[in-house]
Amino acid sequence: DGAPHVVIVGAGYAGFATARRLRAAPARVTLVNPYPYHYFTTLLHEPVARPRQRERIALPLAPYLPPNVRLWLGRAVAIDPRRRAVEVEERATGTRRWLEADRLVVAVGSEPLFFGIAGLEERALTVRDLTSGPLIRSTVEHRLARYAAGAMGAEGRRIVVGGGGYTGVELAAELAEARDDLARATGVAAHAIEIYLVEAAPTLLPGFDPALTRYVTRFLERAGVRVITGTPIAEVTPRHVVLADGRRLEAGTVIWTGGVRAHRLVEQAGFEVDRRGRAWVDGHLQARGFEGVYLAGDAAAFPGDDGRPLPPTAQVALQQGEYLGRALARRLRGLPVEPFRPRVLGTVISLGRRDGVGLLGRGYRVTGRAARVLKSATLWRYLYRIGGARLLMRVLGGAPLQPL
Ligand code: NAD
Repeated sequence: DGAPHVVIVGAGYAGFATARRLRAAPARVTLVNPYPYHYFTTLLHEPVARPRQRERIALPLAPYLPPNVRLWLGRAVAIDPRRRAVEVEERATGTRRWLEADRLVVAVGSEPLFFGIAGLEERALTVRDLTSGPLIRSTVEHRLARYAAGAMGAEGRRIVVGGGGYTGVELAAELAEARDDLARATGVAAHAIEIYLVEAAPTLLPGFDPALTRYVTRFLERAGVRVITGTPIAEVTPRHVVLADGRRLEAGTVIWTGGVRAHRLVEQAGFEVDRRGRAWVDGHLQARGFEGVYLAGDAAAFPGDDGRPLPPTAQVALQQGEYLGRALARRLRGLPVEPFRPRVLGTVISLGRRDGVGLLGRGYRVTGRAARVLKSATLWRYLYRIGGARLLMRVLGGAPLQPL
């Protein structure tokens, strides 16, 4: 029919929310995504300690999309914001074609940023998608087994997490929790499995609440993680991690959590981007200089109160996606639209299965079990919004969301 065509690129927090909010819009919607599922980026580290979690951190998309949204399975390979078009490569056949839109939403998310550190991109694992947790687990396990068999030196039992931000902290806690299991599986003594967390800034979680940061540091040190701060990683070789002060850690497994940047496609498309490749958007999330082209989530640089872009978090991506879906639906009906206003809900960091820290609103602190429950509650609330009580009950009942 003649309804306007909205194309959304990416089904992460932002793109999926946009699509869901277009339910009642007078539009045909195409949602482009490489896989038929939506994964919870905030939980990607969980399968490191708990491999079964893999089936609980992703949701099939199709049952939760409105009838006017068609899922297009493929990878975006180019974006032309002048034509409001995206070139897609079909997953099944590898053939490429352009999809043209009346309104284009770019929600392609982010990728790891390696800062040009020698050897890092080639040698490090990252926490990036659904495959990352299981890959980290199997790589560590494999190297420990080789160490136990005498086929590898001490580098086989040492793991370095590079970057002590949110991702690095959550991952290090997960690795510490996995240690006993890894020891049982490989025959290497638990205390011989060494986990380092290396942070360039003077403390872990730079910029976060100091009291909670102390709690996190103490927790990790008690769990046996060797925390090194104030020293950036300068180079990664096949058997060593070289620190900027000249120290060499003999370690064979490096997991890089030192920062993210927007997906390359954003910069290649010719958007006006910031230092991290994110496209600057106006108050309505429209790209500078391109009518009818919008960005949301990690791909967008939306200036906060201080003029700097909002951080690339799930809550911002979700709020922007929901806003954009609602705003587009109103626009297509000729109704007025308010600018996007972010709401700061807080930050919750998990420390394995039973502990965590949280900073709620703009300053209320929570630690321990309560904080960990809050992190789970964030997921429950999210699932409820997507699939109502039925989906939530299924998950609380322990059913997998996704068959492996
Ligand atoms: P980040 O940029 O927040 O942290 C990266 C850390 O790596 C920084 O502390 C930085 O100083 C450090 N670093 C950079 N170069 C280094 C080097 N050469 N050697 C050692 N350390 C180095 O990245 P992130 O932790 O992946 O988080 C990305 C975004 O996702 C953030 O906005 C964060 O708020 C969000 N996030 C939130 C949660 C949560 O709320 N629980 C969890 C994960 C991510």
